[in-house]
Amino acid sequence: MPTPEEFKSRLDALRGRIRAACAAAGRNPASVRVLPVTKTHPAESATMTRSFGFLAVGENRVQEAALKRPLCPPDLRWELIGHLQSNKAKAALQIFDVIQSVDSAELAGRLGRIAEELGLVREVLIQVNSGRDPAKFGCELEEAPAVLEAALARQSLRVMGLMAVAPLSEDPAAADRTFNELRLCRDRLADRSGLPLPELSMGMSGDLESAVAAGSTCLRVGSALFGDRPSA
Ligand SMILES: *Cc1c(COP(=O)(O)O)cnc(C)c1O
Repeated sequence: MPTPEEFKSRLDALRGRIRAACAAAGRNPASVRVLPVTKTHPAESATMTRSFGFLAVGENRVQEAALKRPLCPPDLRWELIGHLQSNKAKAALQIFDVIQSVDSAELAGRLGRIAEELGLVREVLIQVNSGRDPAKFGCELEEAPAVLEAALARQSLRVMGLMAVAPLSEDPAAADRTFNELRLCRDRLADRSGLPLPELSMGMSGDLESAVAAGSTCLRVGSALFGDRPSA
């Protein structure tokens, strides 16, 4: 885990990259949120982000977040960014404030029904495999309208926008394509539904410039803030 001084200098460097990317794209840096991704890092890492003014952290596993959240400031929000198995839907709704990885109509329906039973309202994003990478989760671009419809049918879910992960690739154009496809998908869904769907969660440590250029509103940043994760 980085010391606060190390974290501060990584954060300064990250902010510099985001400012430069926003300047190149003619965007206001205030329109791009950073979601620190604390997976594999101890609960203290999440607590440290809070002391630097972050209001939310991202985790990719229900179990891991369940262990860490009680150890962290109660006002910190937790966002699920990893694939959710349907048998963990209830636990995910209890632990996370936001679920960014809703990737099927079936999961949307299940989350919505259980949230209603629990008397909860949750913000969600629809994860789309807009890079058409067989190794990545997310619904197909063609399925996105049905997933949106299933989520909108539930009062307990507030659909804020879309999320994508770029394919692992040496070719930077692959990330550009993935992120531009996600924005176009959002524009089509917004047109059809009449909802703004303002959130585009796309971009990580290695490809955030490409994501900012394509309109990202949420960069999910792990290694650029916390250093490399121990390899699994
Ligand atoms: C781990 C992870 C990130 C952060 O990745 P870094 O390359 O460490 O910034 C972002 N999004 C998702 C879905 C992740 O699983």
